[in-house]
Amino acid sequence: MTHSITPIIEGSFFHSTLRGVVEAEKEHGLIFEPALRFYHGFCEPYLYEPTKDKFQVISTAGKGEALIALKYFEVGEIVFIFNGTLMNEQTLFTLQVAEGQYIEDPFVMGKVLHACDPNMVADMQTLTFRATKPIQPNDLLTMDYETTEDELYRQFHCQCKASNCRGHIQGRKWVK
Ligand SMILES: [Zn+2]
Repeated sequence: MTHSITPIIEGSFFHSTLRGVVEAEKEHGLIFEPALRFYHGFCEPYLYEPTKDKFQVISTAGKGEALIALKYFEVGEIVFIFNGTLMNEQTLFTLQVAEGQYIEDPFVMGKVLHACDPNMVADMQTLTFRATKPIQPNDLLTMDYETTEDELYRQFHCQCKASNCRGHIQGRKWVK
């Protein structure tokens, strides 16, 4: 088991803070306020980092914790770029980067629920979520786990109610 404690995304924009935090916030939309950051203490601020002014973790009935949007996103827009710890084992909070390689983010990405007709799609090369539907404030953020995972850490029976719901969700190995 190898654990890397180095965040994958280095805070390249952080160096712009030499010119001042306020300017960097204005120029790049970076948030430096610790209370607003999910990743405070984990990595430096970066562009499209998920922050608490735009997202909230909520408790749902039956599905545990989930992530909701607090602002509107249009189709195709970057919702957020996540960060995490690269590892060679799966947990409840990982997504698969490559065969046998996973990134764990228990703060934000790990709270995104599955839906068979989701409102986001994940690009695992750039760790980017984009909107596939218009996302309204208070909408649950969802992705299709069978687009990234060969095999799920935990299989489950999906009750997303989409007309294309595949029912038993196990991983893309089983998707026809
Ligand atoms: Zn479903």
